[in-house]
Order: sequence, then C-alpha cells, then structure tokens
Amino acid sequence: MIWDVVIIGGGPVGNFSGYLSASFGLKVAILEEHGNIGEPIHCLGKLSVHAFNEFSLPTNSILSPLKGAYFFSPSGKEIKLKKEREDSYILDRIEFDKNLGEMAEKKGVRIIFNAKAFDVNHFKGYSEIYFKEKERINKIKARLIIDAEGAKRQFLRNLGLYQRPYLVGLQYEISGIPLRDSECVELYFGKKYSKGFFAWVSPLKDDLTKIGVSVLPHNNPKIYLENLILKIKERTNHFIIEKKYGGIIPIYGPYEMFIPPNLLIVGDACGFNKSTTGGGIYFGLKGAKIAVNQIYKYLETGNLNFLKAYPKLIKNSFGKELFFTGLVRRFLNKLSDDNLEEIWDIILDNSWIIKKLEEKGDTAYQTSIFSVIPSLISNPKSLRSIKFIPLLLKSFFESI
Ligand SMILES: Cc1cc2nc3c(=O)[nH]c(=O)nc-3n(C[C@H](O)[C@H](O)[C@H](O)COP(=O)(O)OP(=O)(O)OC[C@H]3O[C@@H](n4cnc5c(N)ncnc54)[C@H](O)[C@@H]3O)c2cc1C
Repeated sequence: MIWDVVIIGGGPVGNFSGYLSASFGLKVAILEEHGNIGEPIHCLGKLSVHAFNEFSLPTNSILSPLKGAYFFSPSGKEIKLKKEREDSYILDRIEFDKNLGEMAEKKGVRIIFNAKAFDVNHFKGYSEIYFKEKERINKIKARLIIDAEGAKRQFLRNLGLYQRPYLVGLQYEISGIPLRDSECVELYFGKKYSKGFFAWVSPLKDDLTKIGVSVLPHNNPKIYLENLILKIKERTNHFIIEKKYGGIIPIYGPYEMFIPPNLLIVGDACGFNKSTTGGGIYFGLKGAKIAVNQIYKYLETGNLNFLKAYPKLIKNSFGKELFFTGLVRRFLNKLSDDNLEEIWDIILDNSWIIKKLEEKGDTAYQTSIFSVIPSLISNPKSLRSIKFIPLLLKSFFESI
C-alpha cells in the first residue's frame, strides 16, 4: 500500500499535521519512535491563547492561565508586566500531545509506535521510508513525507543535513515553592542564571511549579539551575523536587523546509521557535497548517510548485517573528550583566514603557514591541538606550 502522507514524529506538530491531512481525506500514517504520545516530556508547556483561538484545540490540558511575567535583572531589580487578560496557558504537555494524537486517530490516521525512521529512498511517484520497529527493519511507502521529528533531527542528519544552533534545557517539577503571583512566570537574567538564555519559575498546578533553565551547548544547565534553587531558598527551604527532565530547543530558525522531491519539514525540526523564549508549539501548529494545505494541493494536481511555495508562505506568515526573535537573542547574548542592569534602569525610569508593553505586547508576536520605539526615540529620559544601537546593528547583520 502507498500512503498519501507519512509523518515522521508523533509530537504535537506531527499529530496536528496528521489530523489536518486526514481532514482533507488523505491516507496518513505517523511513525513515532516511542511507545506513547507525549512521553518523554521535555517542555514547559506555555502556549499562547492565539493557538486555542485559531485552531479550536481541546482545552482539557490547560493547567494555569498566565497574564504576565516578572523579569529579574542580575542584581534582582524587578520589572513586572501583567496584562488584564490571560495571554497564554501552562499546559499539561503530555495531555496536550495525547489530545492531538486522538484527534488524528479519530480522523483515521494510523500511528505506528516504537518506529524510528532512519532512511529514505525515492522511486517514481512514491518514496520508501525505512524504520526500526523493535529491532526489526521495516519500510513504509508514501507519496509525500512530513518530517516532524523535533529538534534532534536524527532522520535529517542521516540524510546528511547538519544539526542547527540549539540550546540545552533542564527542568525540575517542584512542590512547595510559594510564587510571587500565580498568574505570572518569573524570569531570571544574568550570567549567574544562564549562559545564553535565562532561568524560569512557572506555575504548573496546585502546589506544583516548574523551574528551568536553558543554556548554550557545552555548558552544564545543572550548575545554573542550582543557582536558581539557591535563590528560591531565600523564600523557603521546604520544597520537594518531584521530577527532572531536559531537552533541546532550536534557535535562529527557520532552516531548510523543503527537500525535493517530496519532503516537507515542520515544527522544531526546522526551527519554528522563538529564539527569545524557545516557544515552538504555536508556530509549529501554524506551520503545519500551511504545509498541509500545500501538500493537499500538490497531491491533487501533481504540481510541484505547491511544495516549492511552502518556505515562502512560512516566511510571509511568521518569518518576521522568527527573524526578530533571533536578532534579539543575538543582541541579548552580547550584553554584560552591567548592560542588563542599565536596560532595567532605563525601563524602570520610564514606566510608560511597561504600560505600553502591557497594553500592546504579545508574547506570540514579539514584533509588537515596535510600538514602543517611536516614544523611546522621542523621550529624553530614554536617550541612554542609544548606546546599545551598535550592538543591535551588529546583531542585525549577523541575522541576515
Ligand atoms: C526545556 C524546554 C522548554 C520548552 N518550553 C516551551 C514552552 O513553554 N512553550 C513552547 O511553545 N515550546 C516550548 N518548548 C519547545 C517545544 O517543546 C517544541 O517547540 C515542541 O514540542 C515542538 O513540537 P514538534 O512536534 O515539532 O517536536 P517534538 O515535540 O520534539 O516531537 C517530535 C516527535 O518525534 C519523535 N521522533 C524523533 N525522531 C524520530 C524518528 N527518527 N522516527 C520516529 N519518531 C521520531 C519524538 O519521539 C517526538 O515524539 C520547550 C522545549 C524545551 C526543551
């Protein structure tokens, strides 16, 4: 049998791609290397309200609504941004992924578990994908392949594609930490808390919180997380570490999205993540929708131009956001702790910036920050920020 679409990876983006493809009436199979959907978990699970508004996803995985964040400078100065309404949710990531798997299966998608794809061969009109299923080598035929294998890109590396830039994340689920505000995450910046990113404390549910950190490769995230734990001990000594897990986060995407003749890449596998926060679920789902629309048109007509158009459509849809967050990540990673303190001072001296960000800011669409630029330039109290322009320009030229 030749399947219309075979998807590598049963994460949220793979399952959602399967669900959308099957909704078009296509015959779809998903290869998932693990025995269950959603496990092992690696993510914080913060997802913008936009995802629920745009894709009518089941809401039973929502654990905590979030309205904002505390941003802590290296010395502990705090900026609190809190919106009137929730702008995102903390999810039970295992439940969320399972929901998407069930949506796909209900539409007729076949999920093949313990099936790790490792190679492909192309023939006229179809491809054979080879996978290991409990030590046996098996194959499956497809007219079209979607790679949704996530950040590790094992399958793509076997095809000779490089690993792209990434961060290494580590998280602990902890009970017993009193939060500053149960509707806000806490973000800790500076060299003590991370090399190349930040550390976080987030509500999860009831008495549970998730604390975590991401760092550039070749740094040990545990060292930085221990510093965060020391900080937390200023609040309480009575907490219990319930679970520990980690994972990697792609940055500076998007990477190659179409490999001729018939392979489209989606989600973390091609870096649909915001380099500022690591978030990849929302743009992953958005990208899946664009990919599947193109796939359907291609399979209906045989016109390869529909697949070729996919990267451009992604760039038109949220390429600006990926570019901008990449630029900001490069900029932030050039700043010393003293520079970060100066930025906190500028913002704290100009409380209108906080108000404007609370009003106009959007964690999913971070270019919304542009709304503060005209006032920033025209406000004499914020003129100190001009000294950062050379570093911003440097980051810009590195990003293009
Ligand atoms: C520490 C950390 C915190 C994060 N926090 C957030 C957050 O708060 N919000 C957010 O939006 N994003 C967050 N992310 C990123 C988020 O987890 C990803 O963007 C999201 O999971 C991407 O979904 P995906 O389906 O593309 O990939 P994945 O979720 O990685 O799924 C890929 C699937 O493919 C399977 N697979 C891999 N290789 C093969 C193969 N060769 N054959 C068969 N199956 C294969 C894997 O088992 C997995 O099930 C975080 C990531 C980390 C590491």
